[in-house]
Amino acid sequence: MPQKGKPKGRRTKTWVALAVVVAGVVVIWFLALLVTGPALSLAGGSALGKAALDRVNELVALGPRPVGSEAHRKMERIIIDQLKAAGVSVDEDRFTTDTPDGPVAMNNISGRIPGRGGPSARTIILATHYDTKIETKFQFVGANDGGSGTGLLLALAPLIAKRGFVHNVWLVFLDGEEAFHEWTATDSVYGSRHLAAQLQSNGGVPKIGAFILLDMIGDKNLGILRDSNSTPWLRDVVWKVAGRLGYSKYFLSTGTAMEDDHVPLLQAGVPSVDLIDFDYGPDQSYWHTAKDTADKLSAQSLGIVGEVALETIAELDRQ
Ligand SMILES: [Zn+2]
Repeated sequence: MPQKGKPKGRRTKTWVALAVVVAGVVVIWFLALLVTGPALSLAGGSALGKAALDRVNELVALGPRPVGSEAHRKMERIIIDQLKAAGVSVDEDRFTTDTPDGPVAMNNISGRIPGRGGPSARTIILATHYDTKIETKFQFVGANDGGSGTGLLLALAPLIAKRGFVHNVWLVFLDGEEAFHEWTATDSVYGSRHLAAQLQSNGGVPKIGAFILLDMIGDKNLGILRDSNSTPWLRDVVWKVAGRLGYSKYFLSTGTAMEDDHVPLLQAGVPSVDLIDFDYGPDQSYWHTAKDTADKLSAQSLGIVGEVALETIAELDRQ
C-alpha cells in the first residue's frame, strides 16, 4: 500500500502500475497454462512427497517384506486397501513361478484408473517393485529399494483418480524383482517377466503407450540416472518435463545401462523408462544393506519424482 498522505496522483499511478503488473502475471500464467496444462498446485510436490513418505514409513514398520513372508502378505493387503480407498479398482494377478528355491507364489497388483479417452485409449503404466530383498544375515527393510516406489504409487493413486488423464493409467506393484540368490536373467524380475509375457500372449502390448518404472527414488540426495537401456523418445519426454518443472539438477545427464523391471517390457516391445537413483549412500553403501532405512529418504525427493511422473502422463496425453 502507498503511504498515508501521499498525493492522490501518485496513488493512482501506483495502482495503475500494480494493475498492469497483475494483468501481466495473469497473462503469463494463462499462457504457461496453455503450454503446460493445469498446474498441480503441489508447491514442489511437497504434499505428495509427505504423503508418499508416510506410506513408506508404514511399509517399513512391517519390517523385511520378502516374497512369501507374513509382512509381504500384510503389505499386499495395505496396497489393495489403499488403492480401493482411493476409488481405484484393483486387479490381482497371482502366479507361481520357478525360482532357485523351487516354485514360489507371487502377486502382481494393479490399480486401474480409466482415462477420458474411451475404449481406444492406450494405457500408461506407472510401476514399481514392492518386494524387498531376502536377507538372512541382517535386517533389510528396503525403505528406498522396494519401499520408495511403493509409497509413491500409493500416494499418487488418489491424485490420479481425481485428476483423470486421457490415457488409462495402471499403477502396477510388481512382485519378485529381487533375486533369491545371485542376480541373473532367470533369478530376478519375476513379476515384470510375468507381466510382459502376459501382455504378449493376450495381445496387450500395442495398447500400452508407456511403461514408467520408479525404483529407489526416495534418496535425500536425489540423482536420477539417464538409463541407456530405456526407450530414447520416452526418456527424452521425462527429462524435458523435469527440466520444465525446474528439476534438471535431479535428472542427471550422466547415463548408465540399468537392468531392472523395465527390461522384460522393453523386450516385449513396450516403450519403457527406468527412473532410478542408483547412487545410494557413500560408495553405494546404503544399497542392499541394513542402512536402507527411512531416515535416508526425503519427502522432497519423493515429491519431485511424483510430480515428474504426473506431468509426464499429462505430456503423453498431449502427444
Ligand atoms: Zn534391490
